[in-house]
Amino acid sequence: MKIDFENASFKDFENIPGLDPYAWADLWSEYVDYKTLRGQMNYRFEVQSGCGPVVKLRVPGIERQDFVSLVSNDYLGFTQHPKIKEAAIAGIEKYGSGAGASPAIGGHYDFHAELEMKIARFFKRDAAITFTTGYTANSASIQALLKKEDLAILDMAVHASVQEGCLLTNTKSFPHNDMEALERILKNSKDTYRTRMVIIDGVYSQDGDLAPLDRIVELCKHYGAYLMLDDAHGTGVIGKTGRGVIELYDLYKEVDIITGTFSKTFAHIGGYVVASPNLISFLKFQSRQHIFSATATPASICISRAIDLIDEEPQWMDKLHENMNYLKQGFMSLGLKTTDTKSAIVPVLVGNINQNAEICHLLLQAGIYANQINYPAVSRKDARIRMSVMATHEFSQLDKVLNAWEWVIQKTGLVKK
Ligand code: PMP
Repeated sequence: MKIDFENASFKDFENIPGLDPYAWADLWSEYVDYKTLRGQMNYRFEVQSGCGPVVKLRVPGIERQDFVSLVSNDYLGFTQHPKIKEAAIAGIEKYGSGAGASPAIGGHYDFHAELEMKIARFFKRDAAITFTTGYTANSASIQALLKKEDLAILDMAVHASVQEGCLLTNTKSFPHNDMEALERILKNSKDTYRTRMVIIDGVYSQDGDLAPLDRIVELCKHYGAYLMLDDAHGTGVIGKTGRGVIELYDLYKEVDIITGTFSKTFAHIGGYVVASPNLISFLKFQSRQHIFSATATPASICISRAIDLIDEEPQWMDKLHENMNYLKQGFMSLGLKTTDTKSAIVPVLVGNINQNAEICHLLLQAGIYANQINYPAVSRKDARIRMSVMATHEFSQLDKVLNAWEWVIQKTGLVKK
């Protein structure tokens, strides 16, 4: 079996015909060596300091240690906030290091109940369930709610966790944010399925753009479909008080199921589903990944503190928006191509997988840590460098990023004059 390493992507190694997983792994290792040798395997570097605007990083072949970091989803910088760290430590002091059991049989503590109520109230709703990751919040709840009689209608750019959730049901996808295509699917699938659920992100994780929620709510109501919204990247970032796209459109009550993660602006780890009390009660006992898995550790008490701080210290969101605008303006004046981003995710479109990897490595040489996003996360022609801005970046650090890009443009000719 031969794979063309120069043009291959991770996807080519998923299921190689005629070989067993040990042979896949051998071939994969050869590929990793090939890519590493060429400076194209810019993933999984060892970070040696806390999550922040500058990190200590070990990059093979590069001497420097300190890098301006644009890879973190800790958009408000709360992982380093003294009040949040203090809450996590106090949680461990009071309850110990682990929860010790799954929720139905001993692992459901008062701090879990408080967090569930707090996140429901954050979205002006009455009930929520938490999961140990945002990934399982999506995959587990969809698997519990949609079966082979049903249909999930997905924006093509939804997160991998939603795709995985749909393995037990039928799916139809519409091109990203294409409302005519969504309407066509809703019209043509009428009376064919028991339940139809449209599933979208609020902020899309690769483009940073927003879902047209008003139009989607209208279509779901008109055609009798439920709506599930994952606003992992919008919460704490979008809307006047950080409730995400539902706040921006003032559609708190119209979205049937809201999901999200505690791993981004909430500065810890975990996920949640907010919905009607009966649906939440159903998920508490029918969602397999919830019922058969241990609950979050006592350190997760810090999430409740983070939820409070979003309201108590709005200055972090203000600073984040200042930084987002500063970086986007900077890229535009350099002539770089970006997306219609309205969030803290700022991509620069490169369009060629190998050039993308080369640029990622050049940025590292210049002391900038950004992510190369390639197929299958995006289509091949949409290869890009994705950067995430934090409230705790200083303008001088963002200037360093812009200077590095100027150097990259000179070296690679990325911007055509
Ligand atoms: N939804 C979206 C849109 C995401 O981008 C991610 C992860 N980055 C998740 C869900 C999963 O969240 P977690 O990291 O908490 O598993």
